[in-house]
Amino acid sequence: MSTKRPQPRPGVLEIEAYVPGKSTAPGVAKVFKLSSNETPLGPSPKAVVAYNETGKHLEDYPDGAATELREAIGRAFGLDPARIICGAGSDDLLNLLARAYLADGDEAIHTTHGFLVYPIATLGTGAKPVVAPETNYTADVDAIIKALTPKTKVVFLANPNNPTGTYLPFDEVKRLHKALPPHVLFVLDAAYAEYVRRNDYEAGIELVATSENVVMCRTFSKIHGLAALRLGWMYGPAHVIDAVNRIRGPFNVNAAAIAAGIAAIEDNSHQERSREHNTKWLAWLTEEIGKLGLEVTPSVANFVLIHFPNQKGRTATEANAFLMSRGLVVRQVGAYKLPNALRMSVGTEEANRLVVKALADFLGQAR
Ligand SMILES: *Cc1c(COP(=O)(O)O)cnc(C)c1O
Repeated sequence: MSTKRPQPRPGVLEIEAYVPGKSTAPGVAKVFKLSSNETPLGPSPKAVVAYNETGKHLEDYPDGAATELREAIGRAFGLDPARIICGAGSDDLLNLLARAYLADGDEAIHTTHGFLVYPIATLGTGAKPVVAPETNYTADVDAIIKALTPKTKVVFLANPNNPTGTYLPFDEVKRLHKALPPHVLFVLDAAYAEYVRRNDYEAGIELVATSENVVMCRTFSKIHGLAALRLGWMYGPAHVIDAVNRIRGPFNVNAAAIAAGIAAIEDNSHQERSREHNTKWLAWLTEEIGKLGLEVTPSVANFVLIHFPNQKGRTATEANAFLMSRGLVVRQVGAYKLPNALRMSVGTEEANRLVVKALADFLGQAR
């Protein structure tokens, strides 16, 4: 190792930088972006009004504690605002948690097809990401328990998970929590919680409220349609909120995000419209793509994982190119150890129908 120039801490150069979903399709006039699980309905119109208002006062620093936003979130969920912290996207919070709770030589567990921010955040601290195998593209509580070692400090669980769309029932989440030593931080990432329509699902509020080692991260990027503003929040025990407050940027959430976030969280009817659109088209896509003979992993979120045969002319890579040529931009998920699959977000009715038609054409079974 050269000592003639600055060296990043161990782990940093092992990181495979996150590659965001594509947003353009070269040479195609009309593009449908279905690559980053953004909502096809956009944000609440009230959030856009609130966002525009902030343009009149760009010279002022935002409220570093995001007090009004935390109060609005507290009202929406019945939570104590003192136990909420906001971040520049939940990515920010996941990285802050890693920085606060991981050090060289520690281990943080995530599952095989778990969200890529977990290993990135872990390696950035000098700790080691440990991968627990999944069963049927779903987190496996016993496998996670088996992966625990004396070095484990954090367990990351996306519930539902991205890019698989699968989830763990709350009983399973509680069973996992019971098996964790009390010094292990359990990070429940519930970015898609609003979309889930299952009686046995819970985002984790109750578990956070009744334990000292669980946090729940949420985002404004998905159902609230504010991905561009970068806004997320976390509910946790007072001692974790305190630790993260000490290391976060003093103004980590900007004024436009705060204003739009308050309006968004208060607009229940917009959230309900988004949820209803998703419920309808998630079921439709799962069924119609299944009818084409492609396996679709059952999803409770706002996207589906479509599996392709590893057979020349029909591979995920070729399907991706075909969809791209029609302006249908979906996500390749090789980085998630799913080289034979594509993930598509639930889009507008027009986009959803175009994808199914394109896949049918791709597979040579014109409808
Ligand atoms: C989209 C997503 C997030 C949200 O990220 P932001 O930084 O809030 O935009 C968090 N976790 C998972 C699993 C996601 O898919």
